[in-house]
Amino acid sequence: MRPLRRAPLLCLLWALAATPAQAAWVSRGVDGIMGTRIFVELWAEDQDKQRAEQAIDAVMKEMRHIDESMSVYKPTSEISRVNAQAATRPVKISRELFNLLTTALEYSRITEGAFDITYASVGYMYDFRERKRPSEQQIESALPAVNYRHVLLDAAHSTVRFSQPGVRIDLGGIAKGYSVDRGIEILQARGFTHALVNAGGDSRVIGDRFGKPWIIGIRHPDHPDQVITRVPLTDRAFSTSGDYERYFDEGGVRYHHIIDPHTGHSASKVRSATVMAPTATRTDGLSKTAFVLGPDEAMKIYNRLDDVDAILVTPEGRILYSKGLEPAGANVANPPAQ
Ligand code: ADP
Ligand code: MG
Repeated sequence: MRPLRRAPLLCLLWALAATPAQAAWVSRGVDGIMGTRIFVELWAEDQDKQRAEQAIDAVMKEMRHIDESMSVYKPTSEISRVNAQAATRPVKISRELFNLLTTALEYSRITEGAFDITYASVGYMYDFRERKRPSEQQIESALPAVNYRHVLLDAAHSTVRFSQPGVRIDLGGIAKGYSVDRGIEILQARGFTHALVNAGGDSRVIGDRFGKPWIIGIRHPDHPDQVITRVPLTDRAFSTSGDYERYFDEGGVRYHHIIDPHTGHSASKVRSATVMAPTATRTDGLSKTAFVLGPDEAMKIYNRLDDVDAILVTPEGRILYSKGLEPAGANVANPPAQ
């Protein structure tokens, strides 16, 4: 959600999908929304390029609206107002923000507290571009405010309040996934049946590419140009979280943007986690879990959820697959290709 340009997490391997000679794929990438690049690609029947461009305009407009409402880096956003006032009194918020906060709290419960938007009570003291991090003392005094149970929602009045001072929330871990789902809904409502929407680490596709699935490549944590595994997808969302997105290294330690709500430190039990599910809100809400809980505990959660698959890269470089993706009879612990 901050104004920072970043490399796309996943390289989408268009070249693998053949398109007919008359193909009218229309695409656009726009930088600087939600601190990332938004990319939309869709298939326009009858070469109706104008209708496609208008649909992409509508998606970008929606993305900007979500950014305006949910960015903690915009002092006028709804979320900034909540952070400024909710510890002292209930703050009335839009239905949209209320619903996303409700969903965020659900993911805290599903992930046993690994996903927690109140991470920001400590997280706001990190600045990865400036190589800034809180002292142990600062973490210790702010940590009691990190707990999703401090966020109290009142559906009847559409308000939120915090149960104690010092609580801050940040939707950086779920708003992009949500915005991707909104983008897809806009395209579907306009009748598009083959499309991709991507925001940072979060993407969703509808339909296929002429009878072939969309192919996503998962990058090597240390080598942006190396693809360590590929997955075919149709009508699915996917999110990748990595410790190589926003970080700095100091004294042999990597300080990066996924924070363990229990310690206030960067969570480093995996190097990357890719989660696949029907919606991008869901994949975004689940992709941080493995960093905090570790691969074994996280896989238990992913495997319990019928509609979820996951691919994890461990600190040792092993690639772990959830049950639904395990190659039959294969050893699941394959070292990534160098
Ligand atoms: P992307 O920005 O590419 O979508 P992620 O989906 O991996 O990246 O989300 C990382 C962001 O999630 C962080 O920048 C931060 O805003 C937020 N975050 C960090 N730790 C947590 C956590 N434990 N729970 C929820 N959100 C978190
Ligand atoms: Mg994300």
